[in-house]
Amino acid sequence: MSVSTYFDTMDYGPAPESEKDARAWLAAHANGFGHYINGVFTAPSAQRFEDNEPASGKFLAHISQASDTDVDAAVEAARQAQPAWEALGGHGRARCLYAVARIMQRHARLFAVLESLDNGKPLRESRDIDIPLAVRHFYHYAGWAQLQESEFADQMPVGVVGQIVPWNFPLLMLAWKIAPALALGNTVVLKPAELTPLTALLFAELTQQAGLPAGVLNIVTGDGRVGAALVAHEQVNKIAFTGSTEVGRQIREKTAGTGKSLTLELGGKSPFIVFEDADLDAAIEGVVDAIWFNQGQVCCAGTRLLVQEGIYEQFISRLKLRMQKLNIGAPLDKSTDMGSLISATQLERVKALVAQGLREGAECYQAAMDVPVGGCFYPPTLLTKVHPGATVAMEEIFGPVLVAMTFRTPDEAVLMANNSRYGLAASVWSETIGLALGVVPQLKAGVIWVNTTNQFDAGVGFGGYRESGYGREGGREGCYEYLKPKSKKMRQLRTPALAAAPVAVAAASLPPAGLIDRTAKLYVGGKQVRPDGEASLASFSATGERLEDVAHGNRKDIRNAVTAALNAASWSQASAHRRAQALYYLAENLSIRSAEFASRIAQICGVSLEAGQREVSESVQRLFSYGAWADKYEGAVHVPPITGVALAMVESLGVVGVVCPEESPLLALISLAAPLMAMGNRVVVVPSERWPQIATDLYQVLDTSDLPGGVINIVTGNARELLTTLAEHDEVDAIWVHGQAEYSTLAERLSTGNLKRSFVDYGYATDWYNPAQAEGPEYLRQATQLKNVWIPYGE
Ligand code: NDP
Repeated sequence: MSVSTYFDTMDYGPAPESEKDARAWLAAHANGFGHYINGVFTAPSAQRFEDNEPASGKFLAHISQASDTDVDAAVEAARQAQPAWEALGGHGRARCLYAVARIMQRHARLFAVLESLDNGKPLRESRDIDIPLAVRHFYHYAGWAQLQESEFADQMPVGVVGQIVPWNFPLLMLAWKIAPALALGNTVVLKPAELTPLTALLFAELTQQAGLPAGVLNIVTGDGRVGAALVAHEQVNKIAFTGSTEVGRQIREKTAGTGKSLTLELGGKSPFIVFEDADLDAAIEGVVDAIWFNQGQVCCAGTRLLVQEGIYEQFISRLKLRMQKLNIGAPLDKSTDMGSLISATQLERVKALVAQGLREGAECYQAAMDVPVGGCFYPPTLLTKVHPGATVAMEEIFGPVLVAMTFRTPDEAVLMANNSRYGLAASVWSETIGLALGVVPQLKAGVIWVNTTNQFDAGVGFGGYRESGYGREGGREGCYEYLKPKSKKMRQLRTPALAAAPVAVAAASLPPAGLIDRTAKLYVGGKQVRPDGEASLASFSATGERLEDVAHGNRKDIRNAVTAALNAASWSQASAHRRAQALYYLAENLSIRSAEFASRIAQICGVSLEAGQREVSESVQRLFSYGAWADKYEGAVHVPPITGVALAMVESLGVVGVVCPEESPLLALISLAAPLMAMGNRVVVVPSERWPQIATDLYQVLDTSDLPGGVINIVTGNARELLTTLAEHDEVDAIWVHGQAEYSTLAERLSTGNLKRSFVDYGYATDWYNPAQAEGPEYLRQATQLKNVWIPYGE
């Protein structure tokens, strides 16, 4: 026999990992687990459920179902512990997190075995990926705790954080959430998934031994109702959630207007793009890692295989050969490539989606292999002849099912890749650097792997675009998710006098005495246009003087403005220098007319001329600030543990709706629109409802500026009505709302359709004259999203 024949015929022998320690740990908790609250485990509750092994159905443990009282107790413990934990300081917390990392490392094998038993994932993955990466997060964030006072001097902790994690990476998701939250001085109540609570409970036990102060970390177990109770809890300041887009939407709706900050890490349908000049052997291994890692139950799994037409047949036949070599079997066998799905429900869901795919015309390939019986096993599956609009090409399957399609040109690859409501990750394979890196900025995804896939590191941000959620986990950007600017503490709720100020009422037909009739139009696509409803609104100065009418914009006008903004997409690709120049020039043109604007502000807002002059002068300065920032707010080059780099690229959000407050009509508008434009966004602005004339006066300044038509659009009218259309619009990517508290609630509640990001003030007035509150990196962070691009190099 030749060596190659030996290789072809060789089979794996059994290589089981010992489960002795894990079984001993479970036996020590044979009476069941309670919740971990205020540094101790509660007695196991009578309300309990069974946790079983998905690979065999065998019983593992009794787990308590938390009641509302348990959730209250956990939140109260976290609330009580938070001030001292914050006061401990960065170094104190760094030492605690370091101790946690060390103790996890000392129990790494126990964690890995327990995870594989509870989840069904192969030991090879829990041992080599999940657990080491979880440990790495605690080391990494111990570092950020150490550096907190110097690196985040203008920030403070959010407070008590409610964290809800899914079952696909139980300990790793816990680490992604707990490590940054604790590092930066917050306290935590975490709910693990009902199906996989064991490693969270072991973790709690070990943190007790590591000396983490009581109440800093609390763990409550149970089903979705426990998560919902955490979300609804008034004493929780932030929710960090990983799971389905559907539940993410519910959470956004439930938290609307509460002031709770929110991180949502949701589903995906990530493309895996193979160009014909790719290293095909590497790309085939990439596919294996992209879709069969963790049985495909990965939010960023490369589920849509897009192969360039010329190599498609060859690629698919090589892939099928590779699939025959995959080993599906017992999770604790060290030679298992694929273990069990998480549950019978998930297995049924995967089967149903594959059946749907076949009904819609797909062809199914599954390699001949011995699929174990008695558990939730499903073989690696390839669907070909899939139409881009087919259910299996659009819906998240969350199982080991790959759908394959072809493309002809790079443009077509980008179009197909972006043809998804999700935007979590993408993988691009080509040996031509220009081609691969040229595609990267065009892909709507938060993480992109070039000639690699499914790489993660604590120092590199992770998170989605579009309906894959918002917020980032990992690295410096992950820190900001658990911090808030100290300047927010200084803000006061808007005074009722201002909130109740008279607003425009339906127009009377006559112009104010002594004036030539003048009715300001809307500013859309770089032109002044009449409102769709052909209606106008009368308005009054602070002293009750009748001012000229303004256009009464409606839903249609907002839609037209959004279309104009969409058509101005080239602004997002314009160089930072070009955007800076446009803002400086705008400032120049405004400053030329500063006397006129100052007297208009004085007349309309009922302030002194000096106050008017100050507002104009601050507005000019603010434009200069963002002209300055335009080419200075940049990304980073991370050095993760690969031979290569990960680029954190700052990208615009796209089209952003901006609702301005009533006060400081010029300065507030500039303070909100300028950072967005500086970062390449296009904006649709609803100016001060009370004094819109200041914005309509700006039209002529905008006309003489260098801003391309559609970059800024201004629609006057009833703020509530216009905001509703903006918040519901699926092509608006984010919404910024400052003004009455109810507008913030409305914006957050209505933004769930396409899960747009919101930046709102909950009715707390910003001091627009104070740059610490009204200008700078906080606004730039809100105006951008980070795309992390992994680029390995070397042979
Ligand atoms: P869910 O979104 O339902 O669960 C995620 C977490 O949220 C779990 O801890 C869950 O609790 C909890 N939860 C459930 N309902 C609520 C609620 N109303 N309020 C607050 N928390 C809640 O995902 P599933 O586990 O049901 O999986 C369903 C689908 O979601 C999968 O098929 C997959 O497509 C997708 N998914 C995506 C993940 C990702 O990483 N993006 C991860 C997991 C699933 P419990 O589990 O105890 O019910």
